[in-house]
Amino acid sequence: MLATACAALLVCGPASQGLALDADFPGGLGAGGQMLGGPTEVAAAPDDPFVSREITLSGFVEDSFEASLVRAGAPPDLSLKLKDALSSALDRRHRDANQLDSSGTFYVRYRQTFATDGREIGAGRIVFADVMTAARGRIAVHGFRPTRGAEQLWLASGESLAAPAMRLPLETVSVSSAFGVRADPFEQPRHGLGAPSRLGTVGATINTATARGIALGLAPGPGRSASRGGAAFLMHNGVDLVAPAGTPVLAAASGTVVGAAPNAGYGNWIRIAHARNVATVYGHLSAFAPGVSAGVKVQRGQVIGFVGNTGRSTGPHLHFEVIDKGQAIDPMTFPRTKRARLKGADLERFRKLVRQSEAARQGDAAFRRISAGGVP
Ligand SMILES: [Zn+2]
Repeated sequence: MLATACAALLVCGPASQGLALDADFPGGLGAGGQMLGGPTEVAAAPDDPFVSREITLSGFVEDSFEASLVRAGAPPDLSLKLKDALSSALDRRHRDANQLDSSGTFYVRYRQTFATDGREIGAGRIVFADVMTAARGRIAVHGFRPTRGAEQLWLASGESLAAPAMRLPLETVSVSSAFGVRADPFEQPRHGLGAPSRLGTVGATINTATARGIALGLAPGPGRSASRGGAAFLMHNGVDLVAPAGTPVLAAASGTVVGAAPNAGYGNWIRIAHARNVATVYGHLSAFAPGVSAGVKVQRGQVIGFVGNTGRSTGPHLHFEVIDKGQAIDPMTFPRTKRARLKGADLERFRKLVRQSEAARQGDAAFRRISAGGVP
């Protein structure tokens, strides 16, 4: 079968294999035929020790996406970066990034700096890439640097593929109680909600609530009671995420633990301070992860504790709060949990780039069809 070796032969790898698409000919594939032979001449000033070129690779995904790219000549770190970006693009809608490894074709154009002896200098910068999967069709990503911020990969829609600064603290999220005013679950008839389960479970879910956290002045308690027409209501300052007791709880973002202790209604409670005066709070934990205590730095996604039923809780769940400049806000709509989107002049500039890249891609594909009979 036509393997990636074919693509590598046609499309060329790093400098030693020649370059199919030169930076001096963006989309200029008419010249492509002349580039297929031997090493590319580097058109650099003699005193310039480095030269930057655009390299295009394409081929078939066989066993693993990443390995297929490397076989075609792509640097391993670039292959991994692209795999992560495309997995993220697949994952955000279908939660099945494995589709990337099953079959299909890939195309990647990247810019690489070389020393005069042909050594690669630094990591390649992805300009444009796409992958065609059987199940999902085509996904294209574009490298772009907005006016404010670092270069990263974007979908053609202008949505970033970089992970949001803040994530939700469980791998699988099921919300049982949303942010906002709600009836107090402890003031409802028992038959409505079922008896509180914490008394019926032992070990990990023993209620360890104390006033220590409040005494430390770190937290006000999980909600403030109010009365409405005789029924008890609470302002619910966070969201309740249901998960079995013992499920790992992950730091929503990198930061410094400012408290990890039993804390009244919160039960076993953690508070983390993040950049830009944002804090997150985790309540009702069955236990803290080893080493998690006040003053310790944690990374986004690090396990900080385990879901439990301690404190004022009617069953195993995680109470999660996001506090922005002292104000509790809804974690599910907090902008920092969303992927970045290009706007205004950046979006205009980006759209132009997308059009150029797609045009170059089309021309490239047409050229390949003529010369290789179906190589993507
Ligand atoms: Zn809650």
